[in-house]
Amino acid sequence: MIRFWNKRVKSGILTENLEFDEELKEIEKELKNHINKHFAGSLAVRMVDSGSCNACEAECNALSNPYYNLERLGIYFVASPRHADVILLSGLMSFNMTPHVIDAYNQMPNPKWVITLGDCPAMESVFEKTFAIKTPANQHLPIAHHIKGCPPTPKDIIKGFLEFLRLLPHP
Ligand code: SF4
Repeated sequence: MIRFWNKRVKSGILTENLEFDEELKEIEKELKNHINKHFAGSLAVRMVDSGSCNACEAECNALSNPYYNLERLGIYFVASPRHADVILLSGLMSFNMTPHVIDAYNQMPNPKWVITLGDCPAMESVFEKTFAIKTPANQHLPIAHHIKGCPPTPKDIIKGFLEFLRLLPHP
């Protein structure tokens, strides 16, 4: 035990100091203002995967880590489309999933929006030529905004939310 504490004292603090992204801070400030104005402080998002490789979801998972901490800005991922303002749609519109995506959209209360995430829903990704799809997501649903990337980074996704919010009419 004494050996352990000797080593700890000699090595000092080894964790890194976080370097905060100043641009991200500005984006987050504006995002929070928009969410307060348009959604009374909380925007509920239902993630729907219509046939992705899961990399887009992995980037979304990072939004909940202590660095990005999306809930602090008022964006919450919810378990049901009935509780959602926005569907965040990732993946190709595969034949099997298309009716379920449309069903999820129909269950959302009005007003409602769809944001597409990553190049797949627009059929611009590496899987574009698979046999399991025929049409992009905008042929099935009204798409309010598209977040490009394969996959988009967490910062791209936060920026994408801000770009969507900027499109909304003043309340
Ligand atoms: S856009 Fe790229 S990363 Fe996202 S689901 Fe499609 S292939 Fe995967």
